[in-house]
Amino acid sequence: MNKKVDYLIVGQGLAGTFLAFQLMQKGKSVIVLDKGLKYSSSRVAAGVINPVVLRRYTVTWRAKEFLNYNPLFYERLDEYLGKQYHFNLPLKKLISSKDEIAFWETRYDKDDISDYIYKGLTDVTENLFPSEKFKVGRVKRSSWLNISDLLVDFREKLQLENALLEEEFNFSELHPNQYKDIKFGRIVFCEGARGKNNPLFKNLPFSLNKGQLITIKNTLLPSDSLLKKKVFILPTSKNHFKVGATYSWKWDNSSEETAHEIEPEKTELLKSHLEEVTTSSYEVVAIETGIRPSIKDRRPLIGGHPNKKDVYMFNGMGTRGCFMAPLLVEEFVSYCENGTDLHSDVNVNRFVRLS
Ligand SMILES: Cc1cc2nc3c(=O)[nH]c(=O)nc-3n(C[C@H](O)[C@H](O)[C@H](O)COP(=O)(O)OP(=O)(O)OC[C@H]3O[C@@H](n4cnc5c(N)ncnc54)[C@H](O)[C@@H]3O)c2cc1C
Repeated sequence: MNKKVDYLIVGQGLAGTFLAFQLMQKGKSVIVLDKGLKYSSSRVAAGVINPVVLRRYTVTWRAKEFLNYNPLFYERLDEYLGKQYHFNLPLKKLISSKDEIAFWETRYDKDDISDYIYKGLTDVTENLFPSEKFKVGRVKRSSWLNISDLLVDFREKLQLENALLEEEFNFSELHPNQYKDIKFGRIVFCEGARGKNNPLFKNLPFSLNKGQLITIKNTLLPSDSLLKKKVFILPTSKNHFKVGATYSWKWDNSSEETAHEIEPEKTELLKSHLEEVTTSSYEVVAIETGIRPSIKDRRPLIGGHPNKKDVYMFNGMGTRGCFMAPLLVEEFVSYCENGTDLHSDVNVNRFVRLS
């Protein structure tokens, strides 16, 4: 292993992975340290990329910039790993009430939402539904990232390049520009939900939330689009669909195992939402949970430590890591390497008194 690197990255979730990739593309040397935790938000994430908040029909923060940058980034990543992970996938919102139909049409004429949804509602072509009659509202430029395969394959590549340290980070062995026997130019913490306990970045307003997904086997649901009613129904492989996700703000935090315990009532909730969409039979083949690294103001948490030179954080991807992280790593690398400003909404320095 190269014991002198430009960047030491702590965490190989999607944040650490995308950052390592971007740096390597810029010719920088990296070591990624990751314990390979059984539980990480990225391992569970469905990988849906959707620019619209489908409860209120509003456009998400910086949607246009993220949508324009994502294909460039994901194409480069596909090319680097020699496999396709990012796919365009039509998103169909199933609408059942007259009020919602009217709301879709009124919203279309307001603000900039017309760039992201099609005006006309269409009829359902698939014979999926029990009693209700649905209309379909279509979202533009939605896509799917096969994030779970991507993480496994990128990790293998790091291993081959002798750039992966599989261990728990030990803060007592961190010294200026040195961790154990590794000398680094910069260290970046990409720890996801665990960033809440980082002793170097205290008092940051993490607002973690727990999510649950089920994976089902079904032979009748459509495999060429992503359905959304109360939950997403996402085709991931032949006859397999992820259904989710839920939100919880309270859980037993005594250990990582208890924090990630399956919530049976959420499983039932997901099943009942699914059954509002289809009467066809299905089998639940997996149930997964993860903790989303969200921040109180719902913006990422990125930047340098105010007192400790060369110590950085890249975190706070919340519910939309696959959507936001590609452009944010580009901006972060430019901030580190060229001294450009970070977007003021994301800069960690918006919160006072870190240590
Ligand atoms: C149920 C669910 C569904 C979701 N669906 C979507 C979706 O469809 N689309 C979307 O964009 N986002 C989705 N998300 C959100 C997405 O998962 C997050 O935005 C993103 O994965 C956060 O990535 P991260 O790299 O910051 O954190 P993580 O994925 O948690 O990664 C942190 C990494 O750091 C490592 N680590 C932490 N501390 C240490 C340490 N001390 N020593 C060594 N290693 C350490 C861990 O092993 C882990 O690999 C979903 C989340 C959940 C829970």
